[in-house]
Amino acid sequence: MEIGNMRVINIVEELVWECINEVIEHRPGKCRCDRCIADICALALNQMKPRYVASDRGKTISKAAFLEKDLKIALLVVVADAVERVNANPRHGVE
Ligand SMILES: [Zn+2]
Repeated sequence: MEIGNMRVINIVEELVWECINEVIEHRPGKCRCDRCIADICALALNQMKPRYVASDRGKTISKAAFLEKDLKIALLVVVADAVERVNANPRHGVE
């Protein structure tokens, strides 16, 4: 969401990519097609409460937001679970 020169973003959404990459890196053999990644992303985000921050448009988001340890840990758990669920039941045939 953008308001004039400001924007309001969900830092959970920003962090989820980083977490998915981390989780998948440590789990070889998991499907990484766009569909599965998108499903993992949606599943994980549905489990998490959004956390919005306001920041100047054009400015990179405060690193402090990304360093919230509890948030990152909670997200990693949720993403790991989503990876397992999507891989156990992918929405495409086995390739
Ligand atoms: Zn897939």
